[in-house]
Amino acid sequence: MGQPWAATSTEGAPARLPLVLTLLWAVAVGLELAYVLVLGPGPPPLGPLARALQLALATFQLLNLLGNVGLFLRSDPSIRGVMLAGRGLGQGWAYCYQCQSQVPPRSGHCSACRVCVLRRDHHCRLLGRCVGFGNYRPFLCLLLHGAGVLLHISVLLGPALSALLRAHSPLHTAALLLLPWLMLLTGRVSLAQFALAFVMDTCVAGALLCGAGLLFHGMLLLRGQTTWEWARGQHSYDLGLCHNLQAALGPRWALVWLWPFLDSPLPGDGITFQTKADMGLMAS
Ligand SMILES: [Zn+2]
Ligand SMILES: [Zn+2]
Repeated sequence: MGQPWAATSTEGAPARLPLVLTLLWAVAVGLELAYVLVLGPGPPPLGPLARALQLALATFQLLNLLGNVGLFLRSDPSIRGVMLAGRGLGQGWAYCYQCQSQVPPRSGHCSACRVCVLRRDHHCRLLGRCVGFGNYRPFLCLLLHGAGVLLHISVLLGPALSALLRAHSPLHTAALLLLPWLMLLTGRVSLAQFALAFVMDTCVAGALLCGAGLLFHGMLLLRGQTTWEWARGQHSYDLGLCHNLQAALGPRWALVWLWPFLDSPLPGDGITFQTKADMGLMAS
């Protein structure tokens, strides 16, 4: 017999290993960045006003990044603890054999989290948990500010990179940027040069990854789709641009990008959703 509400056991708690690995990677990049900036050519030379503006920008980016990581990890988008009693058996509801529960439309079972997730989008491998109804906003803001922070670090590394280019041939620099570990292990570069190449590679690759994710999820946000619905060409929940933004980010959707703790409650409960048909937007 299935339970009329979601399982409340902690059996489905997300694995911590991906999060620990991501944290170790972030610490390694931070330490190497400090190493390059303190022991290397340092940050770009700037006047007092430009330096103050740069510090303000870095503080804003870091607060947003850390705030959104915290919100993303703290919110649980799963059906765990959500009362589903008496809500099921309508259109779009399904039965999940793993959770032994009726689950609402747009939810999906995650084999990694071992639980069904409300308005499931996908499982984030870097942070080790699912993106769903309750944490889509911090996830999007995380992509935006993650790309911003990584681009900012790349700019800070500019003088160190140009000093490297002046000191070595372009071929040597290209080999260092493409294969930093090989160049270090064969003794062709110093530890400082390896650290610069490692941080530069990480920042450029990370900024590209975050930027591509932001473009893709921005497109989904405007269309009111999850990744799963996009892959299957489903548009049932596309309520128009403004309603789609409000459904995912709340009424203050234009401002949530500026501060992670800005109050902008989501209009729904993650269980029932307005459809195109409800809004009378279906083509006749
Ligand atoms: Zn399930
Ligand atoms: Zn998951």
